[in-house]
Amino acid sequence: MQDYMLDYLLDCQPDNILDYIPDNPYLLLTPGPLSTSRGVRAALLRDWCTWDADYNEEVVQNVRRRLVALATAHTQDYTAVLMQGSGSFSVEACLGSALGPEGKLLIMSNGAYGKRMVTIAETLRLNHVEYALIETEAPSAQALAGILAADAGITHVAMVHCETTTGMLNPLDEIAAVVRDCGKIFIVDAMSSFGGIPFDVDELGIDFLISSSNKCIQGVPGFGFVIARRAVLAACEGNARSHCLDLYDQWREMDPSGKWRFTSPTHTVRAFYAALDELEAEGGVSGRHARYCQNRQTLVDGMRALGFETLLEDSLLSPIITSFLYPSADFDFGTFYQKIKQQGFVLYPGKISAADTFRIGNIGEVYPADIERLLEVIRGVVNH
Ligand SMILES: *Cc1c(COP(=O)(O)O)cnc(C)c1O
Repeated sequence: MQDYMLDYLLDCQPDNILDYIPDNPYLLLTPGPLSTSRGVRAALLRDWCTWDADYNEEVVQNVRRRLVALATAHTQDYTAVLMQGSGSFSVEACLGSALGPEGKLLIMSNGAYGKRMVTIAETLRLNHVEYALIETEAPSAQALAGILAADAGITHVAMVHCETTTGMLNPLDEIAAVVRDCGKIFIVDAMSSFGGIPFDVDELGIDFLISSSNKCIQGVPGFGFVIARRAVLAACEGNARSHCLDLYDQWREMDPSGKWRFTSPTHTVRAFYAALDELEAEGGVSGRHARYCQNRQTLVDGMRALGFETLLEDSLLSPIITSFLYPSADFDFGTFYQKIKQQGFVLYPGKISAADTFRIGNIGEVYPADIERLLEVIRGVVNH
């Protein structure tokens, strides 16, 4: 940055800071970190004192309250705990703190993020079983009911809502009904869906919902959060298998005062606050969901018109991210990626073993007009 610009930024009024926040060199069509708005990036520009109410009350507590209100209409029964690190740190904190010594966890997995929960359970030596599916198959409520009926020792069930590996939207409502009927504690990795797809954690019987700063709320990376049923979290004292990732202790410290146990990612949290303002201005989760659905529809229709096919059938597609099959055996994704990047868009490689795919994210500060521009760029590249 030029010195005169820095001088200007330091002197200027908040009203015109936005004119001096540079645009990004390309749009990230990746599912987190993703493209953020200038308003969110501008909010990073000052320091905060972690001992003062300016930050703890007005930023942290405000963010926690707003997260609970996004998750449920029954706000009094839930609380939000913020945790340093990327989203996986919050998954590890949640699994490691939710299960008591007698607990047994069933993990449903049909992609890399379900598998990551299995790896976490193995590493923490949690008593667990896996309901494993191939990456293109959705979990079945009926099969789940069978597994729970056959193993009364299972106390907790964990699933991924949107499996970002493929873009599959797993059938949360149907699974939730079975978990609730069986009286199990329900943990949902809603990392890539929370804030972008409407649902109510209390109505679904979700006890722990996990997400992070850099997905559908459209903040910058740096922390995750768990929205927990108060009564269930309150019973987790002493469960944690890690000192730093103790969700219960973090909650006890943070709940009264907004203070984090260890250094708080202050700038990231303040940017997240700005991102929450922008989510509200867009009409909340339903407004954002409508935009993401429009992005996805524009993308899928346009890509199909160019000869690309989606990995998944329409009923399984999420509005978050879409996997496309390579159009031919000699398709070179590396070259394709570089050509598209030179023209302002970053795509995402595939992550599954069963088929050659690449992915395009629909989330972030991305609008249908951006997708139309992307489709023009892709048309130019494939016709060359
Ligand atoms: C992004 C994501 C995570 C967390 O990944 P991090 O790299 O740790 O932020 C977990 N689950 C799902 C479904 C995700 O999309």
